[in-house]
Amino acid sequence: MNLVFSDDFVASLKKHSAIKEAVRKKVNMICESPVTLGEPLKGNFRGFYSCPVKRNFLIIFLYCATCRKKGDDAIVLCADCPDCLDDTIKFIALGPHDKAYWG
Ligand SMILES: [Zn+2]
Repeated sequence: MNLVFSDDFVASLKKHSAIKEAVRKKVNMICESPVTLGEPLKGNFRGFYSCPVKRNFLIIFLYCATCRKKGDDAIVLCADCPDCLDDTIKFIALGPHDKAYWG
């Protein structure tokens, strides 16, 4: 797996350092089975996947093998998708579920 962490994700992880270890474990699990663990988002965030770290606290990620298959790279913010390997996982965001940004 080729892992990419966004600046947003890294900043959030620093902010929520208390659950750093839980996030690390979940990231490892997502790397092993991104399709099984990822819950597809809808609407404006079609093509993105979410996975809870704990209740109401989500990791948002993209998996390039599936964003290509569905053609979602045209919609989602996976701008450099064609330059990424198929097994690239991009960790986009980390935060509470009720954050308005993620609906
Ligand atoms: Zn992609």
